[in-house]
Amino acid sequence: MSSALATSAADSHPASAPDYLPVPQLRELQLQRLRGVIGRAWQQVKFFRSRLEQRGLAPQDIRSLADIAKLPFTVKSDLRDTYPFGLFASPMKDIVRLHASSGTTGKPIVVAYTQEDVNTWTSVIVRCFAGCGLHRGDIIQNAYGYGLFTGGLGVHYGAEGLGATVIPMSGGNAHRQIMLMKDFGTTVLCCTPSYCLHLLECAGELGVDMKQLPLRAGVFGAEPWTEAMRRRIESLSNIEAFDIYGLSEIIGPGVGCECRRHQGLHIFEDHFYPEIIDPATGEVQPDGIEGELVLTTLTKQAMPMIRYRTRDIAMLLPGRCECGRTLRRISRVGRRSDDMLIVRGVNVFPSQVESALLQFEGTLPQYQILLGREHGLDQMVVQVEVTPQMFNDKIGALQALHDQLEATLDRVLGLRVQVALVEARSLQRSEGKARRVIDRRIT
Ligand SMILES: [Zn+2]
Repeated sequence: MSSALATSAADSHPASAPDYLPVPQLRELQLQRLRGVIGRAWQQVKFFRSRLEQRGLAPQDIRSLADIAKLPFTVKSDLRDTYPFGLFASPMKDIVRLHASSGTTGKPIVVAYTQEDVNTWTSVIVRCFAGCGLHRGDIIQNAYGYGLFTGGLGVHYGAEGLGATVIPMSGGNAHRQIMLMKDFGTTVLCCTPSYCLHLLECAGELGVDMKQLPLRAGVFGAEPWTEAMRRRIESLSNIEAFDIYGLSEIIGPGVGCECRRHQGLHIFEDHFYPEIIDPATGEVQPDGIEGELVLTTLTKQAMPMIRYRTRDIAMLLPGRCECGRTLRRISRVGRRSDDMLIVRGVNVFPSQVESALLQFEGTLPQYQILLGREHGLDQMVVQVEVTPQMFNDKIGALQALHDQLEATLDRVLGLRVQVALVEARSLQRSEGKARRVIDRRIT
């Protein structure tokens, strides 16, 4: 490991050492850990054991990393079906933390951590932050929600682990966020990208020039976002925007993160084993082919996940990152298979709408897709806010923008869509994850 460390870039931390492991050593470590986690799940979790037994499999059938493809997938409904503690592999006396999803439909999803798991989680977020060039002395304003949601506490522990100063703001209260950003000299903002935009907009209204503040980096996640959104954030501030990826079922935020090259997200492969599958057939796809991201936890104690189907669409990027990390990278998750809308038989992703809208001057990155049904036919209306200058301009410019947007969406989506331009700040703002779609169709 010492020779590997020598190649490490300036943007790392002692905890980043595994980012630079020679590939054969990393694969060996993964195999050893994979066997460990399968053995543990087999012994401790009745659900996994019976899944394996149904297929005539036992832990000793895993002899190589490729053998992982023999194992059954785990899906979100498995977590609901075993609610609350059915997938735990540790007794409650060893579990130091529980988190849960918001559970908008039915029972929430519960996840558990031993002390070792919390330490792992902290270490991967330290590695994320180090890869983003953050360090001791940074003032990190954490506007992810604190509570059952994993975002707040995950980032909090990681920021402290890095040795940075944390402002545990949690979400909401935009004016106060901006006041503290200014008064405390925040250098890094952590929140959802849509909430960052909301804050930038509020700052404008308060007459605070974000470009005059020390704020220089943002670590954004918990919702899919686009390159167009990144350009907007970066044009309104001095923020260098980083994409962080994670999900509670695997550990929370910190499964992967961009480095300063911004060419995909490094997956912390010594803890999380990534595969890309064809979502229809379940077949493992080669690097460079898009599909559904499947993750296996290699070290999780309290709640191991074997081949968990994330519903996130990405690809494993071929080749090595220029930063020197040997960790494989996934492409940015711009869409989730869950987000796919079917409108008049056509597949539509909100990210396609977002990229199309943000190409045009005069639009604001606030939009909503309304779906309804008239005379049995799906109707899709995209409401998008425009800048006050545009709104107050001669009617001609507004009409021209409207027509351009309709034509572009028509071309991109292959679908006739109505566009409604609305005044700035007329759409509801999110305090956390943005609500982009309102589906009023009766199914
Ligand atoms: Zn890199």
